[in-house]
Amino acid sequence: MADRGGSIGVAYTYNEPMMWFEFVLECARKVRERGLKNVMVTNGSVNPEPLEELIGYIDAMNIDVKSMDPDFYRRICSSKLEPVLATVRRAKRDCHVEITNLIIPTLNDSDEMLRELIDFVAEIGRDTPLHFSAYYPCYKMTIEPTPPETLRRAYDMAKEKLDYVYLGNIRTQDAGNTCCPACGEEVVERDGYITRAGGLDGDRCAKCGTALPFVV
Ligand SMILES: [Zn+2]
Repeated sequence: MADRGGSIGVAYTYNEPMMWFEFVLECARKVRERGLKNVMVTNGSVNPEPLEELIGYIDAMNIDVKSMDPDFYRRICSSKLEPVLATVRRAKRDCHVEITNLIIPTLNDSDEMLRELIDFVAEIGRDTPLHFSAYYPCYKMTIEPTPPETLRRAYDMAKEKLDYVYLGNIRTQDAGNTCCPACGEEVVERDGYITRAGGLDGDRCAKCGTALPFVV
C-alpha cells in the first residue's frame, strides 16, 4: 500500500513497535526491498540481540527517554533506564536518531533532571534532535498538564547545547521550526502537520551554504 500510494515508507508508531518485533522485522525487510524507508517510534526497551537483527533495516528512530532517573523508570514505567540508553547509543551508530522527552510536572521537570537529559543528548551528538512534549492528564495520571513556561524553560536550556530542539503536543510560534545552526536562518517551517523546507538548497542552508543533516 505504501508503495502504491507513493509514500516515502512506513512508520511503526503509536503502540510500542517492539511488542510485535517479529512482524516489524518481516515488514521492514519487505519495505526495504521496495526501496522505501522504515521509521520506528519506540520507548527503546529492547534487548541488544533483537535490536541488532532489526537495526539494519531501520532508517530512523524516535526514541523516548522519559527521564535520566532510574528510579523514575522503576516507579512510573515499571521499567529500566539503562537498556533505553543502550538502544539510543547503538541506534545512533547506524541510523538517524531523535529523542523525545515527555515533561510531567513534579516528576521530571526540574532543572537538574532536564540538564541531565540535555547532557546525555549532547554527548551522543549535538546534532541529535530533541523533542520536549507537553503532558496531559490521562487514565491514572491526574497531575495538571505541563505549563507552556516549563516547556519554554526546557527549550531554552537545551538550545545552549543542542542544534535542533523542538516542542511537541503544544502549538507554538517557532518551536517546531528548524534554524541553521551556523547562521540562524530559518530553514524549515512547521505548523501542525504542514512542513515547508523553503530555506534549504538540497541538504544545505540556502543562505550560508552550510551542509545540514537533512536527508533529501
Ligand atoms: Zn545558514
